[in-house]
Amino acid sequence: GSQQTQGNIIPRYVRVNSLKTTLDDVIDYLKREGFSYQGTTMRLEDLDHLSGKTFLCDLHLKDLLVFSSKTDFHNHFLYKAGHIILQDKASCLPAFLLNPPVGSHVIDACAAPGNKTSHLAAIMKNKGKLFAFDLDAKRLSTMSTLLLRAGVTCHQLANQDFLKVDPLSSEYKEVKYILLDPSCSGSGMVCLRDEVSEPQKDGRLQALAAFQLHCLKHALQFPQVQRVVYSTCSVHTQENEEVVSACLQHNPGFRLVHLLPNWHERGHDPLTQCLRASTAKTRTHGFFVAMLERRPLQTDGQN
Ligand code: SAM
Repeated sequence: GSQQTQGNIIPRYVRVNSLKTTLDDVIDYLKREGFSYQGTTMRLEDLDHLSGKTFLCDLHLKDLLVFSSKTDFHNHFLYKAGHIILQDKASCLPAFLLNPPVGSHVIDACAAPGNKTSHLAAIMKNKGKLFAFDLDAKRLSTMSTLLLRAGVTCHQLANQDFLKVDPLSSEYKEVKYILLDPSCSGSGMVCLRDEVSEPQKDGRLQALAAFQLHCLKHALQFPQVQRVVYSTCSVHTQENEEVVSACLQHNPGFRLVHLLPNWHERGHDPLTQCLRASTAKTRTHGFFVAMLERRPLQTDGQN
């Protein structure tokens, strides 16, 4: 039969784009269309009982709505007008956790197609500077369309290899926040996971991990950077905890931030400051997030 196991389904997450609308306006709009709003999620299991036109507010992210997995908004006015962004909950965590202040200077190192960039711009209220890089020209052009639709204006897009961006350039001298979401195996994406039955070739993982580590080390080279969020949609320790550990070993001036204490799925021991996400435990795609912060300057203990 076609019956799906409960707890094995990812609901449809919808991020409200605060650059274009408000949470209340979207909820009202949907109610007028016959959707039934059921308040804030209290328990994970609430998500398994969504059906038809019922929806909830997410427990952790205030601008995130949750619908039954069968809901499709791709042809909906709110989507076409950029009022809502169709984005998995796990992929909303990096910008939410980086939380750059309004007016700050921020880098999105591997940005296309730009869902996290538009989320960052919303958090920054379109004020400050958002430098977004991507190596892939085609993905970047999709990205400019999406950013235009989302009303993002504080960005500067560049078709550039992040590893070749000069951290000492005066352009980036005020950058304090970096979001790094580099290419990964994608092993956390549930649709991929079902199709790719073959385990990842070890050489490929090694090459990805080396690239990811290189990017993370590069991010820490920006002279004013205070916080770097590193994320992947991979479930492999090699691309996640191992990259972060290796980077910290080379950069004793940085440490991990303990993220969302009430989030139960943690990074693999000993990196429990980091978050993991999965269908079973968080009703999302498989995901990993770490936040590195610059240690405060040590004084000599005399003052
Ligand atoms: N952050 C994006 C979002 O939320 O929409 C998704 C980013 S995707 C996981 C990784 C991106 O990194 C791809 O678009 C890829 O083209 C880009 N990329 C790969 N190598 C890069 C490099 N050396 N410099 C900049 N971007 C790179």
